[in-house]
Amino acid sequence: MCGIFGIYGHPEAANIAYLGLHALQHRGQESSGIVSSDGKYLHSEVHMGLVADVFSQERLDKLPGYIAIGHNRYSTTGASLLKNAQPILVDYSRGSLSLAHNGNLVNVSYIRSELEAYGSIFRSTMDTEVIVHLIAQSKEDKLLNRVVDALSVIKGAYSLLIMTENELIGVRDPHGFRPLWLGKLKDSYVMASETCTFDLIEAKIEREVEPGEVVVINRNGIQSYKPFPVSKIAQCIFEFIYFARPDSDIFGESVNFIRQELGRQLARETKVDADIVIPVPDSGVPASLGFSLEAGIPFEMGLIRSHYVGRTFIEPKDAIRHFGVKLKLNAVKKVIAGKRVIVIDDSIVRGTTSRKIVKMLRDSGAKEVHVRISSPPTTHPCFYGIDTPNRKDLIAATHTIDEICKYLTADSLSYLSIEGMLNIFKETRDNFCTACFDGNYPVKFEGMEDAQLELF
Ligand code: AMP
Repeated sequence: MCGIFGIYGHPEAANIAYLGLHALQHRGQESSGIVSSDGKYLHSEVHMGLVADVFSQERLDKLPGYIAIGHNRYSTTGASLLKNAQPILVDYSRGSLSLAHNGNLVNVSYIRSELEAYGSIFRSTMDTEVIVHLIAQSKEDKLLNRVVDALSVIKGAYSLLIMTENELIGVRDPHGFRPLWLGKLKDSYVMASETCTFDLIEAKIEREVEPGEVVVINRNGIQSYKPFPVSKIAQCIFEFIYFARPDSDIFGESVNFIRQELGRQLARETKVDADIVIPVPDSGVPASLGFSLEAGIPFEMGLIRSHYVGRTFIEPKDAIRHFGVKLKLNAVKKVIAGKRVIVIDDSIVRGTTSRKIVKMLRDSGAKEVHVRISSPPTTHPCFYGIDTPNRKDLIAATHTIDEICKYLTADSLSYLSIEGMLNIFKETRDNFCTACFDGNYPVKFEGMEDAQLELF
């Protein structure tokens, strides 16, 4: 889970990248960085924290030039440390190279040990650094060929932005796990994880970078290449369910539209008599609207979310302990009291949030609480870039739906079916990775057997 942004051919490249990263804040909140090029040198500002906190005017002023790439990080491999923040910037025999990666690579520990055996020194624990080493060691001459050379041994999920002093390259892995878009801002080219960035900077959407496509932008303009063998498309369905912003398009669809359709389908599959439908904000809002429209049950904002919860909140030691979800969500008693409530969230991971929400709704006087989830049970961890816990910590991996319902202390609990979810996509229904719901991992990963056996 990360957000990436790139721009070529703009006199204020870093300032635009800053705005682009701002629109991608939801994709990663641990660190933020921009690397820019003035045509001769690459300049880097990469720090821990949120985009608006990291980039003061002073720091942006240290990023001159007409090319820039940026990255917001949410760690999936490698600890949350500055040395693991991106974009990575290195100097090697042919000049400077910077790289920003969204996704997760699944075969790098073997490649990394091989490289180390031949003397490579790594400065981070990130999977991404392996790509930099492979590009640097390639015998090919042109950057494009070096990149293709490196990526042909890499497996897993990657949307990548790579830049040198005078070139910007964008790549989406052959399965297309993570999104990547191409746009134009007057005479300059932009690339970003989601289209909401283009709305902010007023860029025109050109198209989605295709799975397996390499886009090269330099002084000769833009060229597209398809150098990899064709693979089964496996776009991440969880981007639609939870991760992407609803005002974005990804994988050719509006995220908001798909979320509403998930809610409509959930209503068709799991009928229940109730007085109101309420979302767990923010991610449950579009699905609840869809559910409400389909079921003909009024939509209400029965839970309000505080948008000011910092990541570093410290709980008081005594007195009022375990704020937990209360810090983030509060129930509107006047809406809830005396009602039969359907509460909709996008997913249950460990089950702790839903359990607290059910209690909060009961404490606010709900007569009945029916939990509805606008995705199938999350039974398997993701190895392609979404941060999910080990299988044993996923409540749906170890409990039946009845047992989960009891744990939540809900009156009823239903999830969306996998079929119902996929049918929304009609003719593109086979183009998704659904491993988190069915364990069908499209790319084998190191330790796969261990991960699958972990449960038993
Ligand atoms: P849990 O309490 O572990 O069951 O978490 C469920 C909540 O986490 C739901 O409200 C989801 O919207 C949210 N969620 C789902 N996937 C993720 C993720 N990968 N990272 C952070 N939050 C998530």
